[in-house]
Amino acid sequence: MTAASPIILDGSALAAKLRLRARTQAAELGRDASAPSLRVLLVGENPASQAYVTSKAKAAGEAGIRAETLRLDARITEDALLEEVSRAGREADVDGILVQLPLPAGIDATRVLDAVHPLKDVDGFHPENVGLLHQGRPRFIPCTPAGVMELLAEHGIATKGRRAVVLGRSDIVGKPMAALLTTADATVTICHSKTKDLPAVCRQADILVAAIGRPGFVTREFVAEGAAVVDVGINRLSAIDPAPENLLRSERIRTALAEKGRVLVGDVDFDDVAPVASSITPVPGGVGPLTVAMLLLNTAKAATLRSLRK
Ligand code: NAP
Repeated sequence: MTAASPIILDGSALAAKLRLRARTQAAELGRDASAPSLRVLLVGENPASQAYVTSKAKAAGEAGIRAETLRLDARITEDALLEEVSRAGREADVDGILVQLPLPAGIDATRVLDAVHPLKDVDGFHPENVGLLHQGRPRFIPCTPAGVMELLAEHGIATKGRRAVVLGRSDIVGKPMAALLTTADATVTICHSKTKDLPAVCRQADILVAAIGRPGFVTREFVAEGAAVVDVGINRLSAIDPAPENLLRSERIRTALAEKGRVLVGDVDFDDVAPVASSITPVPGGVGPLTVAMLLLNTAKAATLRSLRK
């Protein structure tokens, strides 16, 4: 079947529904001091991180979640940051802790994430939560892959017995994505930078998830006809980081670059792949908005675990 007009997997529409669900859950927990609370730790002045933190705090406020951003100097020592993370773990008033990544060079992110209280770990990066996820009994699921699973479910994209290929093996996206798809009865292959004959492996996928951080890398030769294609990549292109040649065939990208001098693109060459896919996420407006929505749901969940904390 050639899908000349694929279904566009609209993450923004689903995110609005999920945010409403988070708001309902937050309201059930109570107002003011009883409302779920989130502490975000932001180290340094990375502009993208600042933008993410601002949008997370705004979304939390709209969902009735008390969000507080602790802005820390880029020169903070690892020990001082570890103390801030531990302090948030001890404070009864804090339900969820999020350490915005990336951390400045010289700080060991693994040590810092390991220090997050496992019952407040709304990003799902603590080894205890990673272990639970891989055992198929998740507590906190990392927000981006959790959002992808919601998107597949929303659009009735079956996983059971189907072949899924996950492009990328990061702890944040690729690995938890593969674990979730495995738990959902897909037959999963994980690919990475050492995978041989990548296009051929990807062409085996009924569901292809791209999370590599390479603009427009996934072209039609990676995609079997009728596959569902999920693009997790968020790449900022500008005059300084020019678009790969294949992306410059897209009028949207050329126009954005000419008019605004910058454009957001995924890891998938949307214009090239869309005609063969049965469904596909856009960038922006696909997976991106789901990440924040899932963070709100994880924070509401963290608040339900209050009584378990020591
Ligand atoms: P990452 O930690 O840099 O991991 C990238 C992965 O892709 C690695 O496993 C790497 O392989 C693999 N890779 C890189 N180049 C490759 C190539 N040419 N061929 C095959 N595999 C290759 O990135 P990440 O944090 O997972 O993020 C991936 C993308 O998703 C980025 O664009 C990021 O901005 C985006 N993202 C979006 C959201 C969202 O909310 N939508 C959230 C998180 C991330 P090796 O392991 O072999 O090095």
